[in-house]
Amino acid sequence: MKKQLILEDTFRHQGMRKKLVEAVREKGIEDEAVLQALMKVPRHWFLDKAFLNQAYSDHAFRIGAGQTISQPYTVAYQSSFLDVSKGDKVLEIGTGSGYQTCILLELGAKVFTIERQKELYDKAKDLLPHMGYNPKMFYGDGYKGLPAFAPFDRILVTCGAPFIPEELLKQLKTGGIMVIPVGESDVQVMTLVLKKAEDRFEKHELKNFRFVPMLEDKNWGAK
Ligand code: SAH
Repeated sequence: MKKQLILEDTFRHQGMRKKLVEAVREKGIEDEAVLQALMKVPRHWFLDKAFLNQAYSDHAFRIGAGQTISQPYTVAYQSSFLDVSKGDKVLEIGTGSGYQTCILLELGAKVFTIERQKELYDKAKDLLPHMGYNPKMFYGDGYKGLPAFAPFDRILVTCGAPFIPEELLKQLKTGGIMVIPVGESDVQVMTLVLKKAEDRFEKHELKNFRFVPMLEDKNWGAK
């Protein structure tokens, strides 16, 4: 039998979330729309009940399959540079828990998100609609993007990419923005890519972050 999921968001949860949002603001995030989105999405819904304190501390946390839910500050940082407008078509690589996906939806984006770990894809596919969030979810390899749905106004990569995948550059609309952590070691440089023309890109290197690696191909969850 399927486990009945009860999702509640009490004043206590909201109070904890408010503190988290203030902590993220103090670390330098000024984008009010992003901070509001952070306030709206109940992060504790993405973690087991026992991890309530972890849900509302500004840290990444394990979610299974060797992956993590991104740190709220990192989610806010990437989201502010992505500069999403209502109605933008956004491609996200690395659904993971789906937390960042929900932040993008709260910003008014139409979200297309890809996850290569079957276990995490299945979990998010169940959970997000239950929470009232309805992105288009795909089980596949983010290196390939989604040519059938391109071009995208924005592309967000939430795993550490050894290089910027050519396919993703192609699938970005002219005038579009990509935010991608790039680096082959365990540290990546957050990189902002602006597509100026079909074959002209401007790259800006921002701060260093640590992400789980962007791996090729799908993973069937074999243990
Ligand atoms: N945005 C997520 C962060 C998850 S961590 C969240 O808020 O929870 C990054 C995710 O990228 C992991 O789930 C990992 O499995 C996934 N990933 C790694 N390489 C990938 C690829 N090539 N295509 C799609 N997803 C990938």
